[in-house]
Amino acid sequence: MTAKIPVSILGATGTVGQKFVRLLADHPWFEIAAVAASATSAGRRYGEVVRWRETTPLPDRVAGLVIAPCAPPLPGPIVFSALDADVAAPIEQSFAAAGALVVTNARNHRMDADVPLLIPEANADHLALIDRQRARGWTGAILANPNCSTAALALVLSPLHRAFGVEKLFVSTMQAVSGAGYPGVPSLDILGNVIPHIGGEEEKIERESRKILGTLGPDGVEPAAFAVSAHTNRVAVLDGHLETVSVGFRRRVTPEEATAALRDFAAPPCVAELPSSPRPPVEVDSRADRPQPRLDLDRGRGMAVTVGRIRSCPVLDLRLVLLGHNTVRGAAGQGIQIAELLVADGRVERR
Ligand code: NAP
Repeated sequence: MTAKIPVSILGATGTVGQKFVRLLADHPWFEIAAVAASATSAGRRYGEVVRWRETTPLPDRVAGLVIAPCAPPLPGPIVFSALDADVAAPIEQSFAAAGALVVTNARNHRMDADVPLLIPEANADHLALIDRQRARGWTGAILANPNCSTAALALVLSPLHRAFGVEKLFVSTMQAVSGAGYPGVPSLDILGNVIPHIGGEEEKIERESRKILGTLGPDGVEPAAFAVSAHTNRVAVLDGHLETVSVGFRRRVTPEEATAALRDFAAPPCVAELPSSPRPPVEVDSRADRPQPRLDLDRGRGMAVTVGRIRSCPVLDLRLVLLGHNTVRGAAGQGIQIAELLVADGRVERR
């Protein structure tokens, strides 16, 4: 091991777990010290078990790690969770009780009043919520990453809400198959097809975006007061969630004003300097047929959200299209950025 901070990954064999392995392989601050998965995988070498789906080679050092069971203790102050939501809650709680800072991608704790639901550029101040988890008797804490469609949407809404006050919005998603994990949606269901239902996804977008853009006060987070109507669709795209959005504000907002607010959006300095933070966080592309998943997915190494087609809306004020990488901005990449924020905030000691 080097002088980097050791970290562990729960659910390391899955779609999001593999993205953590890839992104942490050459991270400047963190080093993978343990990988953990289900009892079926535990006890075997990662390289023998994992169906590696990433396009870069699996690092030899990680391939040689023996998969641990998902039970504390595991090495390091930070534990990334890419666990299936059906099993995540008690496992994550046991790690937090044992003193770990658990950065989770599972849905279970996102709406808990004492759990921050973080997009560092939008609401880094919500990190302070973890101090309330002491009341649970934990020495560690749980920090949540939003749902993958919500992460891209709320990042884009953040500067617009701050500048103009969002009142209501419609969002329709076209979500990639990798969003369903591995092996995910059967090919015979999705090829040449669109499935107009993703279980629980619309409710997650509607409630999580309001918590993320809410205000932290003495009694916790007061959710933003806007109304959200979401339609979610699974499409035959490998990676990347495309979302078409119509937004109404407290006052009339022109496309030029919205474009300027998005182009000027910058994270607070403590966030902008994190290794995983893209600069800028939102890229505006004025070409008529962009963004597109195949062409624009990797902007900002998958951490930037691309916005295009900003135009007036005859029903609400404004229409736009956005694209976010569901396993990077919507999962592992932002999970790592949240861990970096913990270090920058002095909650994890730098080596
Ligand atoms: P996935 O590919 O199905 O992977 C699930 C992981 O959970 C695997 O490592 C699996 O290990 C492990 N697991 C399953 N049952 C377990 C058990 N009983 N004990 C311990 N480990 C167990 O799922 P995914 O797409 O990576 O998603 C992981 C989490 O992130 C989910 O909560 C999902 O909702 C969320 N998420 C996913 C995305 C995305 O774009 N895919 C985006 C945001 C959030 P084995 O291999 O040993 O079974």
